[in-house]
Amino acid sequence: MKTRLKLLSILLIITVVIFGCLAQKEAAPALQMDEVEARSFYNIEAELNVEEKVLTAVEEINYYNNDKIEMKELYFHVYPNAFRTKETAPFLFDDFENAYKRGFEPGYGEIISVSKREENGEKLLKYSLSGEGETILKVELDSPLKPYERVNIKIEFMLKIPPAGERFGYGENNFNLGNWYPIAAVYDDKDGWNLDKYYAIGDPFYSDAADYRVSIKTPEEYVVAASGQLVEEIKEDDGMVKRTYEGRALRDFAIVANNNFDVLEEEIDGIKVMSYYYKEDRERGEEALEYGVKAIKLFSKLYGNYPYPTYSVVQTEFPSGMEYPALVYISDKYYKPNYSSDPLLITIVHETAHQWFYGIVGNDQIDEPWLDEAFAAFSETLYIELTYGKKIAEDYYNRSVTNSVEAALSSEIIDGGLVKSLSEFKNWDDYGPTAYDRGAQMLNELRQKLGEDTFLEIVRTYVDRYKFRIATTEDFINVCQEVSGKDLKEFFKPWFDSME
Ligand SMILES: [Zn+2]
Repeated sequence: MKTRLKLLSILLIITVVIFGCLAQKEAAPALQMDEVEARSFYNIEAELNVEEKVLTAVEEINYYNNDKIEMKELYFHVYPNAFRTKETAPFLFDDFENAYKRGFEPGYGEIISVSKREENGEKLLKYSLSGEGETILKVELDSPLKPYERVNIKIEFMLKIPPAGERFGYGENNFNLGNWYPIAAVYDDKDGWNLDKYYAIGDPFYSDAADYRVSIKTPEEYVVAASGQLVEEIKEDDGMVKRTYEGRALRDFAIVANNNFDVLEEEIDGIKVMSYYYKEDRERGEEALEYGVKAIKLFSKLYGNYPYPTYSVVQTEFPSGMEYPALVYISDKYYKPNYSSDPLLITIVHETAHQWFYGIVGNDQIDEPWLDEAFAAFSETLYIELTYGKKIAEDYYNRSVTNSVEAALSSEIIDGGLVKSLSEFKNWDDYGPTAYDRGAQMLNELRQKLGEDTFLEIVRTYVDRYKFRIATTEDFINVCQEVSGKDLKEFFKPWFDSME
C-alpha cells in the first residue's frame, strides 16, 4: 500500500522525459512462467447483486500441499468477516469517518458449505471459524493430505459487502472486491500455519502464488477490472454479463466493478496496460495510463520483465493506493482537479513497484512488512531519478524519506530496526517511517555503497530467484552478499538488530 502522502507538489517540474537512460550493461532477465513449481488452482464462480450488496460464489480449490508435512486440516482466511463490527473493521489510518462516510453497516462472509470433491461425488467436510473477527476458516480433511499431493475442496459462500471505501466495500458507483474469497493460509517452517488476524495497520496478507479462473456476473452496465486476463464474456437474457478471467502465478485475485467506468488501454511489449477511471475524470485517467505504462516499462527493465499479460490501474474509493496482482487501487481523490498530478504519479509508481515486491516475490507481510514496502518506497525515488533527473529525486528523497526517518528517530517513535511484525507497531505513525522510509533508506545506502550496477544485479537476482515464491529478510541479505561478493554484516547491523 501507499501510506498517506505527506507532501504534495514535490516534483512535477515539466522536464523532458528521458527514458531508457539507464547505465545498464545487460538487459534484465525475463521472468518465465513455465519455470515455476506446482501451485494451487482456484476456480471461482461469483454473482454480484448490486442492489442487495451481496455476492454469492462457489469456489473450487485444487489445493496443492507444497510442504513437507502431512496436513490433517487446511486453513483459509475469510477476511470479509473483519468488517462485521466497528471494533474489528480494518479501516485505514484510524480514519473511521472517511472509511464509513455513509455510516457503518456490517460486512461479512458466510460459509454455506465445505466439501471435498472426489471421483464419485462430493463429501461434506467439517469446518469452523475462529480467530479475532472469525476470519480463520479451518477445514477438517477426512484423510491426511500427503506432502506434494492435491485435494479438491469446494466452498460455497456469500458475502455481505459493507459501505466502506476500503479494500473490501462499496461506494457511490464502485464495488471493491479485495481479499474477498477464502484464500489458503500459508504454512511455513518458521510459524507453521500463519493464521494472523486482519490488522488495521499495513497490508496484513500472506499467500502463496496460485493459478486462477474467476468468473463474475454483474449487471451489464458495470465495467469490471480484474487481476486476470478476460477470456470470455457472455451476455445473458436477464441483463447480466458473465465475464471470466484467468491468471497464472497470482498471489491474490482482486476485482473492481463500477457502473461509471471508462477504460483506456495501451499495449507495451505484449502487456495490455489499462486505466479504469470515472467518466468525468478522463484527463487524469489518461495520465494514469501514461504513468502505469512508464512504471511497468522502467521496472521491467530494472528488476526483470513484468510477467503477466495485463496490468490495470483502477480509480476507486480508497484512502490511498493498494496493490493487488496485476491490478492496483488508486484513490479517486487523486483524479480530482484540487489535487496536483503528484499523488497520482507517486501512488501509481509505488503500487506498480509492488508488482515485483509483494506480487512476483512474496513475503510474510505480517512478520516482515518492510520487505515489500521498502522496495516500493525506494522505487519511487528511483523512478523520479531516472525520469526527471537526480536533483528532483534528491529533493523528493530528502523530503519523503530522510526527514521522515530523522523526525521519527529523534522523537523515539521508531528505534531504527526494520524487522518488526504488525503486532509490534502502535499505529501508522511508527509503521510508515519504519517499513517504508527506513527501509527505503537502507536500500538507498546499499545502492550507494555497492554502486548502481551491483545493486541492480542484486535486486534482479533476488527477484529471479524468488519469483512466485516467498522470500525472507535472510534470503535478501544472502543474495546481497553472494552477488556483491562482500561480507555485508557490518553494513546491515544498524538496520537488522537481530544480526550478530
Ligand atoms: Zn506499499
